Amino acid sequence: MVFTHADFDGHEQVLFIADRASGLRAIIALHDTRLGPAFGGCRMWPYADEGTALADALRLARGMTYKAAICGLPYGGGKTVIIGDPGRKTPALLHALARVVEQLGGRYIIADDVGTSLDDLAVMRAVTRHTAAATTAASAPLAVTAHGVLAAIRAAIAHRLGRPELAGLTIAVQGLGNVGLPLCRALHAAGARLVVCDPLPARTELAQAELGAVVVPPAAIYDQPADLFAPCALGGILDEPTIARLRTGLVCGGANNQLASPADAARLAARGILYVPDYLANAGGVIDFHQEQIDDRPDAVLAAVARIGPLTAELLAEATRSGRTPLEVADRLVAARLAAAGPA
Ligand code: NAD
Repeated sequence: MVFTHADFDGHEQVLFIADRASGLRAIIALHDTRLGPAFGGCRMWPYADEGTALADALRLARGMTYKAAICGLPYGGGKTVIIGDPGRKTPALLHALARVVEQLGGRYIIADDVGTSLDDLAVMRAVTRHTAAATTAASAPLAVTAHGVLAAIRAAIAHRLGRPELAGLTIAVQGLGNVGLPLCRALHAAGARLVVCDPLPARTELAQAELGAVVVPPAAIYDQPADLFAPCALGGILDEPTIARLRTGLVCGGANNQLASPADAARLAARGILYVPDYLANAGGVIDFHQEQIDDRPDAVLAAVARIGPLTAELLAEATRSGRTPLEVADRLVAARLAAAGPA
């Protein structure tokens, strides 16, 4: 096999795992461990082919490096993808993966992600201690990502409008899953008006009934007038056509890799739209993991995650001062922190 993926060489190590006995087929990508052990979730998905799975692992591992570095945390970036249907997960499969994590000797700490759960990590802990959520309090799921996105939204609103209050503002939210729904609940509690979309009617009906949200078809979300647009579903949704349609001055959400290409940061800036880098807004998971090692009580974890607010405020202020986009400022900061930690 010839490895031609454009991002391949940017990674420190990529492992391809096949375990015949359990049927495990997985990839572990370690993007960078200069700042500390790679931390990152394990996604289980019935990928159409290995190339798609590899692309996902590389992209997400890189994102984890950026999340930890922008928050000043002592971790690198890693990601696991298991190729398969999460409904067919077995303890044997999880143990086979955990054996590889154990062989990495702490260079990689595995967490949950789409298709895996905290219960799966508990199964893996029979084989390796290098997992997230290993403490008692941490075994109860908290909506840490949504909490961090909310903190970033407040900071972005304060930067743009000069006040942090959300009451009376209109927020458009794309996607009502693990991140989008708790975010909507928090925005509603803060008095914001919601415009939402999701292809799953059960989710939009719930947002309409419980939160008074205005529901629009997924394709129409970009056209909604709003004080802020929060992408909380898919990656790659901000491109030339969608950016041209946006009727908002702010974009800040939980989805990973929101920009279809790096040029889209400049496109947003050219339209006067302030874009909070996704890897800062959605860094709640890695902050949560770090805080668990210090004090894992839910209040302490949520307080730590709320640091995303001041970090966002500083970043936006620096972007204004320097005339750079917030993404450029953030990327430079990450590059400087990695370079200071040693050669790649
Ligand atoms: P999820 O699968 O729970 O929810 C995603 C939701 O988006 C689903 O309700 C789905 O129906 C909806 N959706 C799919 N296509 C859509 C479309 N075209 N328009 C509108 N909605 C659509 O996923 P999640 O855990 O909420 O994650 C959402 C995003 O946030 C992803 O990009 C994920 O990578 C990122 N993220 C999640 C976490 C986390 O802690 N869960 C952490 C960091 C980043």
